Amino acid sequence: MTRNRAIKRPNRNETSVLRNKPTAPSRPDPQTLEIVIWPAPVLTQRAQDVGTIDAWLLQVIERMKHLMESHEGVGLAAPQVGLPLRLFVMAEKAKAEQAVAVINPVLELDSQTEEAEEGCLSLPGIRGQIMRAKKITLSGYDVKGEPISMPLEGFPARIAQHENDHLDGVLIISRMAPTARIAIGKKLRELTKLS
Ligand SMILES: [Zn+2]
Repeated sequence: MTRNRAIKRPNRNETSVLRNKPTAPSRPDPQTLEIVIWPAPVLTQRAQDVGTIDAWLLQVIERMKHLMESHEGVGLAAPQVGLPLRLFVMAEKAKAEQAVAVINPVLELDSQTEEAEEGCLSLPGIRGQIMRAKKITLSGYDVKGEPISMPLEGFPARIAQHENDHLDGVLIISRMAPTARIAIGKKLRELTKLS
């Protein structure tokens, strides 16, 4: 559960972090990136802040938008392409040209919650009812390194919370009710065998 953690995340490094820190331990060719499927370890680890927005990162973002659209997703987080970086893309209609990238996001969650069904590109065939905040404020940086802050409500707020969870290594399976997790046990075992 990252709800409290997300609010408490310190943001004192938000500016300097974009200039000084290394971006990632490894920098694979963005064109080779593919969606990774659970139980890949990168999906359950906490991702690192993005240090620098450079040509490589921009290519990664374009690749993520492309993968999101081609898999008919509405959001994709960097750990889902194997990169432990705090970055995600999202678009309500699964269109790459409408997708926005959010770098080093920070979410403030409203106390009012609602439940709805979610799926995940890293958990093919699995869907579950997930409780989320109805309204959030999404802050972070855009691809130019400019600070952004936007209020979101309903579906887009849900997408941002789902993608931000990926950056903390949290998947929908750990947010499902115990009975729902038992019901998807067989599908999870099948995914484990595929990996
Ligand atoms: Zn997901």
